[in-house]
Amino acid sequence: MVEHSKTTSLLRRCSAALQRGSYYLFPGRCVLCSALSKRPLDLCVGCEAELPFNQPACLCCALPMNSTSSTHLNSATCGKCISNPPAFTRCIAPLRYEFPTNKLINGFKHHGQFSRGTVLAELLLCELTPQKILPELILPVPLHWRRQFTRGFNQAQWLAHYLGRQLDIPVDTRLLSRQKYTPAQQGLPRKQRLKNLKGAFRLNHNIEGKNIALVDDVVTTGSTIAELSQLLRKAGAKEVEIWCLARTPLEK
Ligand SMILES: [Zn+2]
Ligand SMILES: [Zn+2]
Repeated sequence: MVEHSKTTSLLRRCSAALQRGSYYLFPGRCVLCSALSKRPLDLCVGCEAELPFNQPACLCCALPMNSTSSTHLNSATCGKCISNPPAFTRCIAPLRYEFPTNKLINGFKHHGQFSRGTVLAELLLCELTPQKILPELILPVPLHWRRQFTRGFNQAQWLAHYLGRQLDIPVDTRLLSRQKYTPAQQGLPRKQRLKNLKGAFRLNHNIEGKNIALVDDVVTTGSTIAELSQLLRKAGAKEVEIWCLARTPLEK
């Protein structure tokens, strides 16, 4: 469990007060409709209400479900997680990867629009803060250096630092590295995806007994998080949770 020191909570209170103050001085605009958001988040209440929140979803892998496929709303586990339980405990994904989530994530990921990244990270934080026990360490899903070089930054790393600052949890960006340059996994058959990811990641030091949060922007096929959580659990991680902004439905 993460303990919050008096100094850090005082610093957080001061920074929250400054944030509130700067909002009154420089009111923000909604990242979707450009109207004044009228609150300390660049997303207006109307646009927030229209977002595709990921409900109901599998309690384990956050796979979007429809209300007929889950017996009790928000309380079902998907068939895949029942027949083949993943190495991670659960995946938290506040949104579904559909319009306008995809527009927000693309702006953040491919055009460096950090106001969009902040709004998305705050929506994820809303799902995380009710948790009483938080992981002890945050790890971003690593990018291969070639992809990071062409994109200019690793969006998972940016998110991990944002969440780490808000929750007072350390972030380790060097523990995991990506050894293999893998093509985009979406659209490839499952067998091919798993083959591509074999040996793609490396763990650079010990994590015995730690509770870990693995952070990524979008969980698409689930192959990457499955591979990484298996690697972490084999290296002695006690529990692995996945924190992401959005989840796409499983391919047919
Ligand atoms: Zn709006
Ligand atoms: Zn599932």
